[in-house]
Amino acid sequence: MTDTLLSIHNLAAGYGGIPVVRDLHLTVEAGEVVALLGPNGAGKTTTLLTVSGLLSTIEGTISVLGRPANSSSPHKVAQRGLAHVAEDRSLFFDLTVRENLRLGVKGNRRDRAEAYDQAMEFFPDLGRLLDRKAGLLSGGEQQMLAMGRALVSKPKLLLVDEMSLGLAPIIVERMLPIVRDIADRTGVGVLLVEQHIHLALTIADRGYVMTHGELVMSGSAAELSERKDLLEASYLGDQAL
Ligand code: ATP
Repeated sequence: MTDTLLSIHNLAAGYGGIPVVRDLHLTVEAGEVVALLGPNGAGKTTTLLTVSGLLSTIEGTISVLGRPANSSSPHKVAQRGLAHVAEDRSLFFDLTVRENLRLGVKGNRRDRAEAYDQAMEFFPDLGRLLDRKAGLLSGGEQQMLAMGRALVSKPKLLLVDEMSLGLAPIIVERMLPIVRDIADRTGVGVLLVEQHIHLALTIADRGYVMTHGELVMSGSAAELSERKDLLEASYLGDQAL
């Protein structure tokens, strides 16, 4: 039996009532890593912002954890169990790592301690950085903190927007398998926007490819990897798709 955490039907989303994402259908099940791929400007970030309630839905339906979430407030979808690691990481640079992590915690004292320990298991490097200000961390350390802060809220659905932005390839190669591990060990469903398409497909279960706001391909990670030529053509704006 599947446990659908995110279900998007016929979504139109955008800015000032003008859609930049059209007719999008997408699902994420518990324990899955789903890659959302596509070239710059394809509408990936807009999709994530709409799911987490930061942008209003223009048309279509979004269901988060089995309940309608069209144009719900970010606070409400977060309470339901959604965490969003934004492209800019949204850290408080003047606060320490410990203080940033505390901002993410939810639940009673025991839940909080458990969630904190689990985040440290996935990102043990944060342990030695607890008293350092977030603004003094390297790009990779900041990304670990952003992910750790999302995890301490014990999410059921995790949206991750370009965690590799500005990171050295070797760090990306280290971070992406942790995302897989998080999904496997906690059962969280992950919707992962990632520019390193081939690396993303090595850790994802399934993927969707968008160009110009529309879906052009979807399938299992293995199917998408096999259709490498088409996948790469979508990044080059190939109209033959
Ligand atoms: P990238 O990989 O570059 O982050 P993306 O696939 O995430 O790209 P979006 O950021 O969702 O793409 O942008 C989709 C379209 O929406 C683009 O044409 C972009 O110019 C436009 N757009 C993004 N933000 C705004 C905004 N605040 N107001 C108006 N248009 C916007």
